[in-house]
Amino acid sequence: MQYFSTNNHSSKVSLRDAILHSQAPDGGLYMPDNLPRFPQAIFNNIAEMTPIEISYFIAYSLFGSDIPSAEIKRIGEDALKFPIPLVEIEPGIFALELFHGPTCTVKDIGIRYLARMLSALNPDFPKPLNVMVATTGHSGSAVANGFHHVDGVNVFAMYPSQTPDSQVAQVAMLGDNVYAVSINGNIDQCRSLVRSTIADKDLNEKIRFTCVNSVNIGRVLPGIIPYFLAYAQLQAKQPKHGPIKVSVPCGNGGMLLAGYFAKRMGLPIGKLIAANNANGAFCRYLSQDKADLTEATKRTRAYAMDATVPTNLPRFELLCNGNKEALRRDIMADSCTDAEIDSTIRDVLSRTGYMLDPHSAVAYRCLKNNLAPGETGIFLATAHPARCLTTMEQITGQKVEIPPQLVKFTSGRGTERSLPATYPAWRKYLLNILKIRR
Ligand SMILES: *Cc1c(COP(=O)(O)O)cnc(C)c1O
Repeated sequence: MQYFSTNNHSSKVSLRDAILHSQAPDGGLYMPDNLPRFPQAIFNNIAEMTPIEISYFIAYSLFGSDIPSAEIKRIGEDALKFPIPLVEIEPGIFALELFHGPTCTVKDIGIRYLARMLSALNPDFPKPLNVMVATTGHSGSAVANGFHHVDGVNVFAMYPSQTPDSQVAQVAMLGDNVYAVSINGNIDQCRSLVRSTIADKDLNEKIRFTCVNSVNIGRVLPGIIPYFLAYAQLQAKQPKHGPIKVSVPCGNGGMLLAGYFAKRMGLPIGKLIAANNANGAFCRYLSQDKADLTEATKRTRAYAMDATVPTNLPRFELLCNGNKEALRRDIMADSCTDAEIDSTIRDVLSRTGYMLDPHSAVAYRCLKNNLAPGETGIFLATAHPARCLTTMEQITGQKVEIPPQLVKFTSGRGTERSLPATYPAWRKYLLNILKIRR
């Protein structure tokens, strides 16, 4: 499969170039040129396949022309070596739990997979690739963890020095090939250091840098796999289910896009629901011709979904050829406020004993609002409640159990290094580290 830019459909690049560069030189986003499409008969026996077989089957159909099959098998088994269960929480409503990875959010899936693909496709082998990430939230910890101990890759994770210890620990307690750098500045200054590094021609002749931000198509495509795993589990549990609606919590729209890809590949699901928090980005996008760029992003309980202009919009725009009507046949949007998140968490906990985190609560609520009698609903549960411990304890008045993989990373600033927010200081640091390692 090849990849083209949303700004220029004629020049195509390989999977390696698409994931190594994240964004096309013309500023567009990479798109796969030829998604596989499966006949319906394939799905008759899917319930008898193991998760490993399903993952391999889907991954091979996507990456088989770029990565040797044995390698695809190894990448999949290593990247997705945690369960992705479908849990019925009330009659006809299922949670697809995507939070059993090392950092307990959905980000583990795309990032772990991308890390292993980059390692397998490293053009400078045996010289390492250097991955940079600037974040305060879920993707920083998932990147640090996802690339930890991956051969031939160094990770430089930057975050503002004000970042709480509980988030820093996720990055700084790893060591080895993960470099945690606390920047004496804000997140925009961290991002600007990333941009300056990429623009530094002299440095890039010596060292190869890669950026694994949310637009990287190598993070989106692995997200297709869980939709097939969900369908297989539903077939096994309830072969006589009704038409399926799938509700997806949306920030930058990566997981929603993966669901849309899965549907276009033939997975028998009905409508997708773009579940928004109070920022309502997808609601506005689907109902208007252009997303409203003027509104400031609100900070909400479901903070990993705080976006007013989801970065994946150009991809949706291209897939529907600018025809919103066509998109609305496959995707509907709904949203939910912080107060609704709180009441949903309390209501579901008291009725069913199931504890939703704020992101999953948005997906549940938007599903519940739009599920017709006889339909079967699946919502994506994208974070473990322990990722926002204090908020959850405030909302529920209950203690939240911390999964063992998070316990290790709740405190400590480990191998952290502190730097001022200036490019010369950052550049000197990089050169030092990379020289020492060779
Ligand atoms: C990133 C994230 C989302 C949103 O995913 P997108 O692919 O950006 O739409 C939802 N929930 C959680 C917990 C996340 O970390």
